[in-house]
Amino acid sequence: MTSANGAGAVRSVSGPVVAAEGLPEVRLHNVVEVGRQRLPGEVIRLDADQAVIQVYESTGGLRAGDPVTDLGHPLQVELGPGLLGGIFDGTQRPLTVLARDGDDPHGRPMLAGGGDTPSLDRRRRWEFRPAVAEGDEVGPGDVLGEVQETSALAHRVLVPAGLSGAVGAVRAGPVTVEEPIATVGGTPVAMLQRSPVRQPRPHAGALHADVPLITGQRVIDALFPVARGGTASIPGGFGTGKTVLETSLAKWADADVVVYVACGERGNELAEVLEEFPALEDPRTSAPLMERTVLIANTSNMPVAAREASVYTGITIAEFFRDQGYDVALMADSTSRWGEALREVSSRLEEVPGEEGYPAYLATRLAGFYERAGRVRCLGGDGREGSITVIGAVSPPGGDFSEPVTQHSLRVTGAFWALDAELARQRHYPAVDPGRSYTLYELDAWFAAEVGADWADLRRGALELLAEERRLLELVALLGADALDPTQQVTLRSGRMLRENFLAQSAFDARDAHTAPPVQYAMLRALRGTHQAMQEALDAGRPPHEVLAAESLQALGRMRHWETADAARRGEQLVRSVQAELAR
Ligand code: ADP
Repeated sequence: MTSANGAGAVRSVSGPVVAAEGLPEVRLHNVVEVGRQRLPGEVIRLDADQAVIQVYESTGGLRAGDPVTDLGHPLQVELGPGLLGGIFDGTQRPLTVLARDGDDPHGRPMLAGGGDTPSLDRRRRWEFRPAVAEGDEVGPGDVLGEVQETSALAHRVLVPAGLSGAVGAVRAGPVTVEEPIATVGGTPVAMLQRSPVRQPRPHAGALHADVPLITGQRVIDALFPVARGGTASIPGGFGTGKTVLETSLAKWADADVVVYVACGERGNELAEVLEEFPALEDPRTSAPLMERTVLIANTSNMPVAAREASVYTGITIAEFFRDQGYDVALMADSTSRWGEALREVSSRLEEVPGEEGYPAYLATRLAGFYERAGRVRCLGGDGREGSITVIGAVSPPGGDFSEPVTQHSLRVTGAFWALDAELARQRHYPAVDPGRSYTLYELDAWFAAEVGADWADLRRGALELLAEERRLLELVALLGADALDPTQQVTLRSGRMLRENFLAQSAFDARDAHTAPPVQYAMLRALRGTHQAMQEALDAGRPPHEVLAAESLQALGRMRHWETADAARRGEQLVRSVQAELAR
């Protein structure tokens, strides 16, 4: 069979990589179908006489001479209503998950209806509400109308890039994604749109990232915040809590849409996420959390090339919601597994390996992915803004941060939340090590305006206290506890109270899992206030052992359950009770 783009044939197969001949017209990055099973693949290199293809499914049955057909377009995703709540593989094929007592004990995701089911449901009808009238002049990015995609989100249908003119044939009411909802300059526009995944979607200009993404995670918001439109990496060895932190962020971050890319993790871990998410409630809307979530899943037992594609599929979907004017958070767990997919394909291509076998282009690929984060002015006349915040977990082998994926992530991301094996061993979670973590985002002004004028002071004070505590702990390790003077003993005690009562936060205690900024602020003030009260008591001549044993300090252990409405009052009360006890 000869298609418009010519039909080729398999020449050789090496793991996920296939070389094909007889495709003189094929372009780099085009999608092809390989073999009689029509396995999807993508051209990743063009040599003089052959196209090199990465295949997104097992190449097990392929033989030399099997047909290869060029589909004539690059790897792309389908965009439109119906993405939210969906679970897709790395090339956006819908997945269903087997029950764990089904065929696969690991809850391995299965393609829904084989490989041919389209990403977006073709039959479902959506109630389209036009926002334009016939005759209106519109251009790229203008809002043609909305459908209520889920109770959590009104899906804005936009004029596609490159199209402008007068609106005609507007249609309200139930429509499928393929039926035109209007014409623009005579061209029919349907809700279903397609975008190549390896190319950023256009916007009207980058905006400064000066608003935080509130995560409800105290160590992050208070000490190392990430901006909306910023990037963060979470490096940590096995079992340090990366997945728990990524899922906490997916649950609690104040984003309109969450795209969760589960990349190369084990199937049973993913099954847990997939079981847990649909049961969760969005704290902002009380709707099921899945109503604002898109899951992209490529577990370790699924084909490695699709894992490489999964982060691009995820970020293109994120851009689609950004373009509608929404704040999107994309979690990638883990970018190391993605790097390993890159390495595997590269070695099959027999490319010259760089550091630790990774291809030399690892750094530019990683940077190119994170660069698609940002806060932007969207295309369209209404001045909408949207953002994508990208948070990538990194799993360095042996927890060694000097390895390439960690090092390159560190260079390109604005916040770095280093998970520490020793903290995890002590069950201090999230095991974010304040000594090695940082943020480059300057968000103090926002917190001062929105939460409390002395936020920056409190934050600096907390960081200094932790640094001083580390120094004192080293002294104690060398010289013993007797080496510390009373002021230093009080500092040590305050540092510990800060770590135990503020930085440590259980993801599994419903009342602790998320803390709103006003409560974080009250907690920090209470910690600072009690530290000062202890110091003042020392200065007034109170013996150190009495200061350190003050009963009323116990109340700090209950701060994590304060509510926004009365946190400030309770904080002040707590400090006053410590002052009163130490004055008696
Ligand atoms: P990783 O993905 O880094 O291998 P996980 O995220 O699976 O590690 O975490 C390992 C275990 O640590 C979890 O099963 C849980 O028991 C514990 N843990 C991690 N983070 C927290 C947290 N914030 N609160 C309570 N327990 C946690």
